[in-house]
Parts: sequence; C-alpha cells; structure tokens
Amino acid sequence: MVCIKNGPGPTALLIAGNHGDEYEGQIALSNLAREIRADQISGRLIILPALNYPAVQAGQRVSPLDDGNLNRMFPGDPLGSPTEMIADYVCQELIPMADLVVDLHSGGRSLDYVASALVRPGRDAEEHEKLVRLLRVFGAPISFISDGTGGGGITTLAAAAEAKGALVLTTELGGGATLSLSGLSLAASGLRRLLMDLRIVSDIDVEAASPTRLMTVSGHDAFVYAHERGVFEPAAEVGEEVAKGQIAGRIHFPDLPTREPETLLFGSSGLVACRRVPSFTRRGDCLFKLMRDLDLAPSRAGHA
Ligand SMILES: [Zn+2]
Repeated sequence: MVCIKNGPGPTALLIAGNHGDEYEGQIALSNLAREIRADQISGRLIILPALNYPAVQAGQRVSPLDDGNLNRMFPGDPLGSPTEMIADYVCQELIPMADLVVDLHSGGRSLDYVASALVRPGRDAEEHEKLVRLLRVFGAPISFISDGTGGGGITTLAAAAEAKGALVLTTELGGGATLSLSGLSLAASGLRRLLMDLRIVSDIDVEAASPTRLMTVSGHDAFVYAHERGVFEPAAEVGEEVAKGQIAGRIHFPDLPTREPETLLFGSSGLVACRRVPSFTRRGDCLFKLMRDLDLAPSRAGHA
C-alpha cells in the first residue's frame, strides 16, 4: 500500500489486483505511485496495486490460500479466511476514508473486454448524476451502468463501497490475462483526470477526456452461455455490433467428429462487451455479454 499525503484535501482510494490476473490496473497504479510527487497533491492518495496480494503473486484470479474470489466476498469477515479478512479491512478501514474509490479490473484469464468504465446505478437521482459525471471525466470510449446482475451482485467491492456512501468507479480494461496497451493508457489518463476533477492534483499533464458512449447491460438475454462441454468457435469480436438471432458461435465436439456442432444465437441486439478467451468450454461458461445504448437516465427501479 502506497499512501501519499500533502496538506488538507480529499482522499482517493485507488485499487487494482482485486483479481490477480488482471494487469492494466496493476501497472497503471504502480506507475502512478512512482510518478506522482507529494508536492503535486492536495489531500491524500491511497494506492493498492495488488489488493489480493496472494492472487497477484500466483498470477491467478483467486487466492491460492483459500480459493477466495475477493470481489465476491465483500463486505468480508475479520475472523474469516485470508481473502475475507482483506475484504473486511478494505470495508472497515479504507473505504470510510475515501471520497472516491476506483477499482481497476480487466477480463482476467477467461474474458476479453472492450475498454470501458462502469458504475452501479446511483441510489438516488443526485448520486446517479455524480456517478455518470465520473464516467464522463474518466473518458473511456464506452461506459456502462450495471447493478452487478450476472456477476457479483452485492458481494463486490463496488457494492460494499456504495453501501458505505462512497462514490465508486470500476473499469474493464482488456483481458485474457495479457496486457492491453490501449487499456493501460486509458487507465493512466482516466485516473489523472479523476484526480484533477477531485482537485487532489492540479499540476499534471493529461489529455482531455474523449466523449463516452453510455450503455447498460440488462436482462438474461444480454448473455450467451455454453450449454455443452466442447470447443468454442466465436462468431463475433469484442466491440462488434450484433443483432438478435445472429449466430454467436458454435460449440464443437472433436471427440465425436460426426456430431454437428451446437450453434448458439444472440438473444438480443447490442454491442459485444466481452467474449470468452479460452476455447475449451464447459457448460455454464459465459461466452458473450452484450451492452445496449442507454436511452433514458435509469432509476434504481429500472434495474430491479
Ligand atoms: Zn476483475
């Protein structure tokens, strides 16, 4: 943990390595910790580039100590497993200090994501407006609003921080356990824009935010899952626009070569937010997730 404090001002809590095999955020935060000088700051930066340290050390999503998926264990337990203890420490000690929480994710080993930022829907109109504003300041090409349905629900760091009244922005910056240079660059510039906006930092060079496309993920039809164990042949790329009924991919059975592959269709129209990376697929694996443009400022009820 790196803490840089200079004079009075707000606190930003900047986190990566919540999942150990997501790398753009880990590097962006390590770079920031080395590059930023205390005299450029008014307030405090708390930077954790490797939050689930055992998972980061092992190069895997979950902790080798307890198989703990940290972003499914919030708010944690001070007397629980090592991963539950990390979640509890973040919730009880760090989040209450923070005016802004940023949790940098990517797709990890199993998914490749379009570079994007996301927030949960605000609990009221005022909070919602603040969160949408953060998305515009961060300036990812695509931003989406999601309540965590289909991945984590109320057990994520973002949900736990929201429950404590903190403003939280999350990202998906690439995936496949590799490093996206555009994702890394977006993390670096987006973080600096957020810190400028919060007035923790003033004397820093950063390009203006690009316009962001506001989108949402809604309903079961936004996901394509594997129903069979086999080899996944995708028929769409990340970032592509697809139509309802279009072929999403096929599952092949090389051990039964005369069996026809299973053809999977998209259940709705939208933009491909993420795609499964490993070809070997088991029943229940997520193959695609779609986003659609946000037409109205949604209320919490719209995401029930
Ligand atoms: Zn993650």
